[in-house]
Amino acid sequence: MTDLSVQDWKSKAAALKFRNQCFIDGAFCDALSGQKFETVNPATSEVLTDVARGGGEDIDRAVASARRAFASGAWSARTPEQRKQVLLRLAGLIRENIPEFALLDTLDMGKPIKDSSTIDAPGAAHFFQWHGEAIDKLYDEIAPTGGRDLALVRRVPLGVIGAVVPWNFPLDMATWKLAPALATGNSVVLKPAEQSPLSALFLAELACEAGLPDGVLNVVPGYGEDAGQALGRHADVDCLVFTGSTSVGKLFQRYAGESNMKQVWLETGGKSPNIIFPDADLDAAADMAAFGIFFNQGEVCSANSRMLVHETIKDQMTERMKSRAEAIVPGDPLDPASTLGAMVDRSHTDKVMRFIESGKQSSRLVTGGERITLNGSDAFVTPTIFDNVQSDHQIVREEVFGPVLTIQTFTTDDQAVAMANDTVYGLAASVWTSDLSRALGVSDALNAGTVSVNTVDALSAMTPFGGMKQSGFGRDLSIHSFDKYTALKTTWIKY
Ligand code: NAD
Repeated sequence: MTDLSVQDWKSKAAALKFRNQCFIDGAFCDALSGQKFETVNPATSEVLTDVARGGGEDIDRAVASARRAFASGAWSARTPEQRKQVLLRLAGLIRENIPEFALLDTLDMGKPIKDSSTIDAPGAAHFFQWHGEAIDKLYDEIAPTGGRDLALVRRVPLGVIGAVVPWNFPLDMATWKLAPALATGNSVVLKPAEQSPLSALFLAELACEAGLPDGVLNVVPGYGEDAGQALGRHADVDCLVFTGSTSVGKLFQRYAGESNMKQVWLETGGKSPNIIFPDADLDAAADMAAFGIFFNQGEVCSANSRMLVHETIKDQMTERMKSRAEAIVPGDPLDPASTLGAMVDRSHTDKVMRFIESGKQSSRLVTGGERITLNGSDAFVTPTIFDNVQSDHQIVREEVFGPVLTIQTFTTDDQAVAMANDTVYGLAASVWTSDLSRALGVSDALNAGTVSVNTVDALSAMTPFGGMKQSGFGRDLSIHSFDKYTALKTTWIKY
C-alpha cells in the first residue's frame, strides 16, 4: 500500500463503487421518502454520490428488522465461539479491502490516504479481530452464596443497540461500537455522520458476506435531526451509544428521558492538556505534541490542543513547536506524501477560521492561521499556534476541532494541574517529565480518562477509552467495552 503513488490512488478512486442506499434487513434499499443528500469530497468540492436520506420511517424499518433478528436467536443465541468466527471473517474481509476503505474515508472527509490506509482501515480489522477473539474468553460468575443455593450471574445481550457516530474517523468510530455490540450478541442500527456515510455502508455489506445474519446490522444514513433523533427517541431501542459533540450528547440523554429511558452511553468532546516539565526530553515532546494536535487536521476528540509549559522552557518549546508546525503543509489527501488533508467541509472550515480570528484578537499568533485553496477547495487550514493566551480566552475553553494549538505557561506543579483541570472536559491528558514520581503524582491529579506519560494519545484495543466530566462516560475498546452492551442477569437455583 505504501508504494502506491498519487496517480495509483486517483485511478483506484475513479474505479471505486459507492454503496449509497440504506442497508436494512440484509439488503440495500432507498429511503422510503425517496430523498437523497449529496456527499462531497471536501478536498475538491466534487459531489461523490447522492446518498439515501433515511428518516424516521427508515429508522422504524431498521429497528423492526434488528428486533426480529434478535428475537429469532439467529445471532443472539449463537455461541460466543460461533460469533467469534464471523467477526474474524469480517476482520479478514476488511484487510482484503483496505485500499477501498481507505479511499472511502479519505474521499468522504479529507484525511490523508497515508493515515486512512495505514491507521484507520487496518485498525478497524484489528478491532473486530480483537473483540471477536476476546468474546469466548469471558467467564460468567457464580455468587458466593453458600448453602444449598446456586446463584448464576451471567452477561446477556441488551437487544437492539442504536449507534450514532461522527465523521472524524468514520470507519473506526463505527467499529468501536459495532465490534463489542455484535460480539455480545446484540443487533444494531447504525447511523453514520451525514458527512461520511460511505465506509459504514460497505462495512455492512461485508459483515453479511462474513456470515452475519440479515437484520443483525442495519445502517441508515441521514441527518442528525431526523434519523439520529428518531433513533434516540425510538421506543424499541434498548441502548443508544453515541460518539460526537457534547451538545448533541446531551440531546441523547433528553431523547432517552422523554421516550423509553433506554441506556445512553456518551463519548463526547475534549480539550486535552499536554503538560511539559523542564526535565522532559523537549525534542521528543515537541515531535509528539505536533502529532497530537495536527494529526487528522486536529479533528481528534483527544487532540492535545492545550500545551502547558513550565515558564523556564517556554521560549525553547515555542520555537520547537513553530518549526514542527511549519514543516507540515496541507496537501492533496490522495497524495501519500501529504500529512495534513482537508477539513471535513466548508462549514467546519468556517468555524475553525472563526476560532482563529478570535485567537488573533486575544493572543499572539506564533504561526499559521491561514485558509488556503488547493484543487478548487478552500477547506485547508495551516497548522496554527497561539501563545500569550489567557485561560478565559475562547480558544482555550472551547473545542476547536482543527489544527490549532495554544501555549500557556505555569510555575509550579500544582498550578499546572489546576490549569489542566480547568475545563468542562476530561477525555485525555499528557505529561512530559523524566521524574517518575512527578509523572505519577500529576497523573493521579488529572481529571482525564487517559493520561499519557512521555507520549500523547496512547491508545490500544486492550485499554479502555473514554472520558470524565463532559467528555462523556462509558468506555470504548478493551474487555470493559462489553459492559455497555450487556446486562448482568442473576438466576437463583435452590437445590
Ligand atoms: P456531532 O455531535 O455534530 O455529530 C455526531 C453524530 O450525531 C452524527 O451522526 C450526527 O448526524 C448526529 N447528530 C447531530 N445532531 C443530532 C441531533 N440533533 N439529534 C441526533 N443526532 C444528531 O459531532 P461531529 O461534528 O460529527 O463530530 C465531532 C465531535 O465528536 C467532536 O466534539 C469530537 O470531540 C467528538 N468525538 C468524540 C470522540 C470520543 O471518543 N470521545 C471520538 C470522536 C469524536
